[in-house]
This record gives sequence, C-alpha cells and structure tokens, in this order.
Amino acid sequence: MVLETITLRVTFGLMSLVLGTLFYFFSYRPARSPYSGWWCVALALFLTGALAFLLDGTPHQVWANPLGNVLLVAGAVSVWASARSLRRLAPSPWMFAAAPAVTLLAAIFDNPATNTWPGGPVFLASMSVMFGLATREIWPAEPAEARVRFPMAASSGLVSVFYLGRMIAFLADGPHGATFELFFGSSVTTIITMVLLVVVSFSMSGLTSEQQTRALRMVATRDDLTGLLNRKTFLELAAKEVADPGVAWRAGALVLADLDHFKSVNDTHGHAAGDVALQSFAGACLNTVRSTDLVGRYGGEEFVLLLPGASASRAEMIAGEISRHLAQVPTADGLEMPTVSYGVALYDAGTSGVEDLIASADRALYMAKSQGRNRTVHSE
Ligand code: GH3
Ligand code: MG
Ligand code: MG
Repeated sequence: MVLETITLRVTFGLMSLVLGTLFYFFSYRPARSPYSGWWCVALALFLTGALAFLLDGTPHQVWANPLGNVLLVAGAVSVWASARSLRRLAPSPWMFAAAPAVTLLAAIFDNPATNTWPGGPVFLASMSVMFGLATREIWPAEPAEARVRFPMAASSGLVSVFYLGRMIAFLADGPHGATFELFFGSSVTTIITMVLLVVVSFSMSGLTSEQQTRALRMVATRDDLTGLLNRKTFLELAAKEVADPGVAWRAGALVLADLDHFKSVNDTHGHAAGDVALQSFAGACLNTVRSTDLVGRYGGEEFVLLLPGASASRAEMIAGEISRHLAQVPTADGLEMPTVSYGVALYDAGTSGVEDLIASADRALYMAKSQGRNRTVHSE
C-alpha cells in the first residue's frame, strides 16, 4: 500500500484541528477538567508538529523539521500530563523542558538542513518513553473505571510499543530501509495515530460525562455540610433494606441520634463551631459503623443510622462507641463537643416500614432526653 505522505499529513492536520475544536467546546469547556485541558494542548501540539513537517524538502526544513520533532514530543509530554491529572497529580514542569530539549539537541547536531530524520532515534525513544509513562498513569486502578480507562491505556500503550518498534527498525535499517518504510514509515504512523486520537478523545469525553454524572448524583444524595446521606436518600435506601419483600431473612436496628443542648454550642461558640460539631459527629459515625450500614442526617442536629444485622446490645455498643469517638475529637477555643442521646428500635421480617420504625426510635429518643440525656434508650 503506497499512500502519499503529504496528503496524509494534511488530512491528519485537518482531523486533529476538527477533533481538537470539537473536544474543546463539547468536552473541555463544560467540565474544565485538567486531563481534558492537557488533551487539548496535546492535540494542538500534534497538529502544529505535523504541519511543521510539511516544510521538509524546502529551505525551511533546517528549523521546521527539528521544531516538528520538539512539538510532537511536547505533545507526548502533554498526554503524560493529562494521564497524571487523572490521578490528580500535577506534572513536573521539568519533564516539559527535558524531553523536548534532548530531542532538539539530537536534531540540531544531525544535519537538519538535508536530513529529514535528524536525531531520529532520540525522537522516537522520547515518544515511546512518554507514552509508556502515560500508560502507567492511566492503567485503571478500579474495575469501575475500566470501561473508560481501558481504551485510553490500550491506545497509549500501543503508541509506546509502536514507537519502540520504530526506533529499533530505524537503528537496524535506517529511515529509508524496507522494514522501516513498510511497517513504521510516515504513512503507517499517521494512520495509526489518527485512529488512536479519535479513540482517546471519545473515551475522554466519556470519562468527563461519567464524572459529571457521578458528581451530580453525589450532590443529589448527600447532605452538603456533613457528606452523610440526606434524609430523602436515607429513607429510600432504608426502605429497601427494611421492607424489601425479596429478602427472606432480615433483622437489624435503627438508631436516631440527637446532640444534647446543641443550641447552647451555637449560642456560646457561634454557628461555625456548631457546624464543626455536626461534622465531627458525622466523622465519629463513619469511623464506627460498617460500610454496609447507612448513616444519614435526618435534619438539624438529628442523625439516623440503619444497622442491618445488629442486635439491641450491638446497637447500644455502637452508640457508645460513636459518643466516645466524638468526645475524643480535638477542639479549639474552649469548645466542648456535645454529648449525644440515642433512641434504638429493632426491626425484623414483620416490620411494616421505615416510618413506623423511626417513630418508635423517636419515642425512645424522647425518653433518653427526659431521663437526663447522654444515654441510649431502647423502644419497648
Ligand atoms: P436537646 O438536648 O433537647 O436536643 O437540645 P438542643 O439544643 O440540642 O435542641 P434544639 O432543638 O433546641 O436546638 C437545635 C439547634 O440546632 C437549633 C438550631 O439552630 C441548630 N441547628 C440546626 N441545624 C444546624 C446547622 O446546620 N448548623 C448549626 N450550627 N446549627 C444548626
Ligand atoms: Mg433536635
Ligand atoms: Mg438536640
């Protein structure tokens, strides 16, 4: 297959321009995530790098060709930066200087005026290394992310291996050897790169919308002060657990917790200190319960926990543990964490619904308050 290099490069330039523009407006602008920002930078660098090679064979080749190499390597560094920001890590600026500088030096001292592959092996090695590093950063850490991350990691890994192959063929065969031209020449490279740029851009858009969906779901289900489940979500999830007819055997405990004399925390130390106490209580709960338990903010300074499988004594033990954790939270400015009263209600297969359960726990909580607070009372 003989394809004309110039046509391919122009096509490539046009495609990365269109892809970059679309990606910028439809994926980067709405979310402004660092990884899609870096991806836009990479596309722009690949585009200008490809354009620079169009000057090969003209008197401008002497500067345009080394510049092309530098731009492509800088593009590969941007891909690596994009991959790193997926892990919320910043790229080291050092990498942006080092890899392009090495590539430039190798090209300058290799007759860039007449040689269309000045510093070829160094350029190819830099590309391979940067894409290899990017692959390592992208490789999915969690199975949940594999669907969007895997195409990106596979593409980046393929490019890395491909450039390694190019470098080996270059060293063995020279840039005009049959092997290099057939498998690793400019035409093959351009086609492969075009396909992979499309794959990565689409995967990245997918990742962006997935993250936005997750963020929206987070906002809709959580209490924004404490990060616990909000009342509506708690009730939905608890209803499933308590009254799901699909579950044959079920039992457990529901605990309502109310901070004692919380109003005086606000009155004495201010509303912000009150907020800190609420957040500390949420933290104490999360430090105590199992990951399968549900913890929600029921409203104001009232919280609700659903402990599937818990007996009365276990529920009481958990309540005591939460209060102990809360008392141990370090505080400033003489603030003392409030004590907490708890009302516990047990459920089993005969329990009709969460509302009744909460009503029983609330009666028990009322008893705990009237018996002097800072205690746990079980519903009869
Ligand atoms: P008791 O021991 O009987 O429960 O007394 P209490 O003071 O805790 O109960 P009360 O219901 O009188 O006061 C609850 C206070 O919680 C009143 C309200 O201003 C405060 N509060 C509710 N939501 C928030 C919040 O988000 N942040 C802060 N700082 N205070 C809140
Ligand atoms: Mg209250
Ligand atoms: Mg209270």
